[in-house]
Amino acid sequence: MRMEYLFVLILAACNVGARRVVDLTHTFDKNAPKYPLDFLGYDSDTFTYFNMTILADQFFGDMWLGIRQVEFYEHQGTHIDAPNHFGSGRQAMDEIPPERLIGEGVVIDVRDKVKQNPDYAVSVQDIKDHESKYGKIPPGAIVCMNSGWADKYPDPVLVFGSNDLKNVSTFHFPGFSLDACKMLLNERQVGVVGVDTPSTDPGQADGYYCHMYLQPNQVPLLEYVANLDSVPARGTTMVLGAMKMRDGTGGPTRIFAFMDDMDGDGTNTANMYSSSVLSTVCSLMIASYITSFMHF
Ligand SMILES: [Zn+2]
Repeated sequence: MRMEYLFVLILAACNVGARRVVDLTHTFDKNAPKYPLDFLGYDSDTFTYFNMTILADQFFGDMWLGIRQVEFYEHQGTHIDAPNHFGSGRQAMDEIPPERLIGEGVVIDVRDKVKQNPDYAVSVQDIKDHESKYGKIPPGAIVCMNSGWADKYPDPVLVFGSNDLKNVSTFHFPGFSLDACKMLLNERQVGVVGVDTPSTDPGQADGYYCHMYLQPNQVPLLEYVANLDSVPARGTTMVLGAMKMRDGTGGPTRIFAFMDDMDGDGTNTANMYSSSVLSTVCSLMIASYITSFMHF
């Protein structure tokens, strides 16, 4: 590689370092709440929601090798619903265009309303109130409800709001109203709609109206989004690391929110990677590169 290109790459890396990233993802493991499908005639007890087999975790001579084999149900943990989840013939996981998986993050905070009513549905008025404060929601936005529900994860009784974990009709958790979904799609042309709960449709919703309205229109959904308390209402770029699984209807998704390190106070350091270390390393690399030049 020519040194000029290396120099440009180092500068680019430093530029990335001027921002910080918030991880909006719960760690995926066997404790992820298990959404039951018994109401459709399945026996959810027969599902493999998560199974990790250790194939290797040992030295072979002087070479360490760790390998696992994993089987999981698509719609668990922090995950995306591909449009073909509720849209017949619509995009599968491998067919979602990359442009759809990157967008401005919009966080609608309804934590106070949900404290009064766990069955709360984000309304058109909530969206209008948000816009009057923060500006119009742009096309392609990744719009997430922050209901405070992520704090309950992964306890299934708290997450589903019920002790009857096989009976979805007893579930209580917030989501979006159908009118809000219609507005987001038709009047704002948003890219993705997400929630910090098990479903975009509230637990007590009459059917899966958000899924059934948005997904035939190629809109992916996000469920169990984490850490929304740590990002502002506007101004982040969200990136959805959805696996490119052929014919998949959903799957575990690493969600990042990139944001300018405006205050630089390092709050929530557990979830934020401060730019300062990267910047320092970059500065040292540039300095050593320039110094090496001067010697010749
Ligand atoms: Zn799902």
